[in-house]
Amino acid sequence: MEDAEGSSGASRRGFLKLAGMGTLAAGSAIAAPSAGAAPASPRLAGPLAQPAPVPKAKGPRCVIVGGGWSGLTLAKYLREAEPKFDVVLIEPSSLFFSCPLSNLWLGEVIDLDLLTHSYVDAARAGGYVWLQAMLADVDREKRRAWTTAGYVDYDYLFLAPGIDYHYPSLGVEDPQQQAMIATHWPAGFRPGSEHLSIKRKLEDFEEGIFLLNVPPGNYRCYSGPYERACVIAGWLKREGIAGKVVLLDPHERPAIKADGFLHAFETFHKDHLEYVPGSNITGVDPERRKVITEFDEYDFADACIYPRVRASRLIEQFGLAKKNSPQFEADIDPLKYNVRGDDRVYVTGDARPMPFSKSANTAYTEAQYVARLVAARERGEDEPWVSPVTSCHSMVSIDPPMSISIESRYRHNGKGEEWDFAGVKLVEEPSEGLGKANVEWGRGLYLDLFG
Ligand SMILES: Cc1cc2nc3c(=O)[nH]c(=O)nc-3n(C[C@H](O)[C@H](O)[C@H](O)COP(=O)(O)OP(=O)(O)OC[C@H]3O[C@@H](n4cnc5c(N)ncnc54)[C@H](O)[C@@H]3O)c2cc1C
Repeated sequence: MEDAEGSSGASRRGFLKLAGMGTLAAGSAIAAPSAGAAPASPRLAGPLAQPAPVPKAKGPRCVIVGGGWSGLTLAKYLREAEPKFDVVLIEPSSLFFSCPLSNLWLGEVIDLDLLTHSYVDAARAGGYVWLQAMLADVDREKRRAWTTAGYVDYDYLFLAPGIDYHYPSLGVEDPQQQAMIATHWPAGFRPGSEHLSIKRKLEDFEEGIFLLNVPPGNYRCYSGPYERACVIAGWLKREGIAGKVVLLDPHERPAIKADGFLHAFETFHKDHLEYVPGSNITGVDPERRKVITEFDEYDFADACIYPRVRASRLIEQFGLAKKNSPQFEADIDPLKYNVRGDDRVYVTGDARPMPFSKSANTAYTEAQYVARLVAARERGEDEPWVSPVTSCHSMVSIDPPMSISIESRYRHNGKGEEWDFAGVKLVEEPSEGLGKANVEWGRGLYLDLFG
């Protein structure tokens, strides 16, 4: 029988054993079972062995995993690039929550309404099917994606699952302590619940140190921690709270828009923000609410602790991570995005290995290129590479709302893994005009993806 045979086939040849699904759901460090292990539960094998409830494909089927910025853009633009493509987006969340502009919501510059959007609207506007499920396994021989709602066969598969946090990078190996840090002091660099939790923290904050940090490596949203420091410091000032933000940064200067942020720290936030460069976190003592760096220790009243990021665990569990990659990012052709040796499977967005800024605008522009590329490949043609565009506004003051900005492109210098910037437009003089442009940038993208 095809279902039963397909199910065992996935275990033999697929990427991920079923019991490993918990790692994705919980984002915690549950080890995958050893090779050849049986599915953990017959209840999982049952629904997984059925076709998922999606319509029969009317053309070459593109299955996209992850309804974040990258996956949503692919879903829309694949059909624009090749109308005969039949697109299915697999995303487990019931609601899209935008990380971009979320700092502005923390500072009450915008309402929550602007950040949250409907996958139903996105699918209707883009003319594709949204399957609310989680990818569990892939059989690349059969071109079959196994989800928690059943399997979907594909002609092209796009993995856009974003990032996970790597808590051992904070010097914390104990899963119990990792869970405690994630629960009490969430980083807030993955969409949804973490942001709601941080908003409540701010509303309840009475006094003392609100600790933030910048992680090492190519972390998500280069400006994000600095912007958040400015917004929270502005909030403390506005609310008259006897507290300050302490921002620990392993870099000697802010990693991006350095002059703009340093000027904002000095000018707008002198009394509510202490910036500590050259501070790499080497340990966290959650019981004593203490963060340890190479040189010092910091007690805090509250915090958002941001570990080094890694590509979603999906990438490593599928055996697709680059060897020796400290962030476990995908081993793909850097110009064509397909998994090496397989032009049916692509990895995009923040799980990519290229050193581009892990940002929504990068993911959005990159996915448009990948959509055109795969449409061209379907026609037996090629598509010349174009650079993604990183465009990032940062709010440095909330009263009044003022932002600084950067836009950059990239150039592959022809030496394998090496890239250069191909033009950077930097505006480090804060202005209310850029504050408005900040919000308008987000509105434009939401309109494009959700209709
Ligand atoms: C506070 C903050 C502020 C930011 N500000 C900006 C900004 O101003 N400008 C900017 O350009 N960028 C900004 N960013 C960065 C931006 O949010 C990310 O770079 C962007 O979300 C990356 O898109 P992605 O699609 O790769 O990942 P994500 O948007 O994280 O999407 C990944 C999706 O994959 C899904 N998924 C994971 N595993 C599975 C599975 N097994 N099956 C199915 N689905 C799965 C997840 O549910 C998720 O929806 C900001 C980020 C943060 C945190």
